[in-house]
Amino acid sequence: MGRLSGQRLVVATHNAGKLREFAEMLSPLVKEVVSAGDLGLDEPEETGTTFEENAALKALAASVASGSPALADDSGLCVSALNGEPGVFSARWGGEQKDMMVAMRRVNELLGDNPDRSAHFVCALAVTWPNGKTEAVEGRVDGKIVWPPRGDNGYGYDPVFVPDGYDKTFAEMSADEKNKISHRKRAIEKLVIKLSS
Ligand code: IMP
Repeated sequence: MGRLSGQRLVVATHNAGKLREFAEMLSPLVKEVVSAGDLGLDEPEETGTTFEENAALKALAASVASGSPALADDSGLCVSALNGEPGVFSARWGGEQKDMMVAMRRVNELLGDNPDRSAHFVCALAVTWPNGKTEAVEGRVDGKIVWPPRGDNGYGYDPVFVPDGYDKTFAEMSADEKNKISHRKRAIEKLVIKLSS
């Protein structure tokens, strides 16, 4: 029996794709999955300095507002030679226009001719209960930054990220192929184990 069994879980995302992925993986553990968007809940500002902090503050806000346990995620790209940047600022590197071409170019320019192109995506997931109890996990996928960008699938930094053991960027993979090895998938698997134990 998981600690969510029989309960409604609020997923603090306004992204339909993520909601589907979370709902599919967590459905054996919960009675019902609803999105924060469906409940008209606002998303708080991401003021944390780590992925886990941001996931936890979003989950706490949604659980307090809804009175149900809530799940939130935070993710981003960490480039080793840039001391882990853009990290929690991954989306913000796209500027006000959220132009990810600008963000990818910035990564490449800052790397210059540095031979260390290693990077990883991180996904933190937090489940918080209305009493403030929180369970958090992190999943990660290692790889390297390539230039120029390749592929039309996916989003964000996918066109410049080649996962270890592959020749294709995430943007050259099908959604199924990427989702099997992604940081998000790995985090969800860890969360399912944690909540089932
Ligand atoms: P979010 O947590 O999904 O909002 O992601 C924050 C930012 O990290 C996004 O805007 C992307 O720039 C980047 N990011 C997170 N996950 C991925 C991914 O799987 N592929 C590409 N970019 C990602």
